[in-house]
Amino acid sequence: MGGTKVAVAAVDGVTAKHAMQEPTITGSTGALLDGLEATVRGVIEQSGEPEAIGVGVPSQIDYATGTVETSVNIPLTGVPLREELGRRFGVPVFVDNDANCAALAEAHMLGEDNLLMLTLGTGVGGGVVIAGVTFRGAHGLGAELGHFTLNPDGPPCPGNCPNRGCIEAYCSGQALERDATELARDKPDSRLAQCIGADGMVTGRDLVEVAEAGDTDALLVFDSFARMLGIAIAGYVNVFEPDHLAIGGGLSRASHLFFDRAVQEAGMRALPALWRRTKIALAQGGADAGVIGAGVLAAQEIRGIRTPLRDTPSSRPPTTERAE
Ligand SMILES: [Zn+2]
Repeated sequence: MGGTKVAVAAVDGVTAKHAMQEPTITGSTGALLDGLEATVRGVIEQSGEPEAIGVGVPSQIDYATGTVETSVNIPLTGVPLREELGRRFGVPVFVDNDANCAALAEAHMLGEDNLLMLTLGTGVGGGVVIAGVTFRGAHGLGAELGHFTLNPDGPPCPGNCPNRGCIEAYCSGQALERDATELARDKPDSRLAQCIGADGMVTGRDLVEVAEAGDTDALLVFDSFARMLGIAIAGYVNVFEPDHLAIGGGLSRASHLFFDRAVQEAGMRALPALWRRTKIALAQGGADAGVIGAGVLAAQEIRGIRTPLRDTPSSRPPTTERAE
């Protein structure tokens, strides 16, 4: 489920069939769920009854209950999605963050057991797969790869986040637009300045176009983006030592403007023994990755394949108690 479209398919292994896509209905929670149910029933008519249903949502999820903790673009905050969809379909339902689903799909499509995926889009998301299974922290809210601090005095994080200088504040589409706009305002005679729109901003699309034409200002914006991404990658390699680190998300379509530079920067900073053992590549999962990952997740769950770090999803309610 995305902010603009809902994609549904019958998933067998890592193959998606009978795919259907509908616009996301964001008017109300009820209308959203009714629309989702209708699309899922359309796929079931062609594919037959599923053993289980997996759902990827662009939201923070309490994994055990499948309840949406916060959801920015779609009206799902506080909705117990697992229970609600389980009641509608009568089969087990599993709900996870969409970036976790994309990472799980990437790992299983590539046959990689230990994989980390960064999803570069409007924000920065990601997923961590360890021994073939998603690592998501104690309650499902962890692995927020975009919200790790690169610079404590950096720009405010554009996400729903109180911090400054997060990876998302440097390596997201919103960060690119901010930097391009600042540079354009500083240099009124520049090519970027001609791209300032009615809202006073330079769009990511214009920035890419100007950079592709070889404009040095636009290339400078991508250079600093790539440098910060490389610093982030080096940190992830040092912490997780994945076999494979995949870069995906909408921004990866502009990877020719930053990928090589980011890998070069990471290679200068990561611990050499770990760096030698990690492959960095663009994500291969494509448009179906989220759907396939949600299916892989559901299949793993009904077969009892869960994170080796935790036997069962925690059923404890969130607690505010802290060890002092
Ligand atoms: Zn943040």
